[in-house]
Amino acid sequence: MPPTAQHEAWMDLALAEARTALSTGDVPIGAVVIGPDGTVIGTGRNEREASGDPTAHAEVVAIRQAAAAVGEWRLEGCTLVVTLEPCAMCAGAIVLARIPRVVFGAWDEKAGASGSVFDILRERRLNHWVEVFPEAREAECAKLLTDFFGSRRSG
Ligand SMILES: [Zn+2]
Repeated sequence: MPPTAQHEAWMDLALAEARTALSTGDVPIGAVVIGPDGTVIGTGRNEREASGDPTAHAEVVAIRQAAAAVGEWRLEGCTLVVTLEPCAMCAGAIVLARIPRVVFGAWDEKAGASGSVFDILRERRLNHWVEVFPEAREAECAKLLTDFFGSRRSG
């Protein structure tokens, strides 16, 4: 399904998170979890380099913060917005958190698990299906990544 104007506005917050990852040399990926009332209840950026934690992807960081804010593991009625298509680990975490909606920006043709390489969010054999809205401000989200990898190659 195409993203809505509201989804694209929320992507602003995820893009801002992604940009802060640059300060620690992390791949610029950002995520936010929006609560049922439309307020931000979790934010995260990729901080693998900053924390030395292989599981510190933007989505997992944001989901942990949102669950702490809500006070339980179920994030029913929430929307996760992320600049890059979730990987297998993050898509798994989204399913486990029972998040009903995911909005993402750029496709990850190498490791995406939300419609490109795998589709864990809409895997019929799992007990939870997620509504997926790809390509929200795709060009901006993708440019952050291509600029990052381009500058690393030339630097
Ligand atoms: Zn991930």
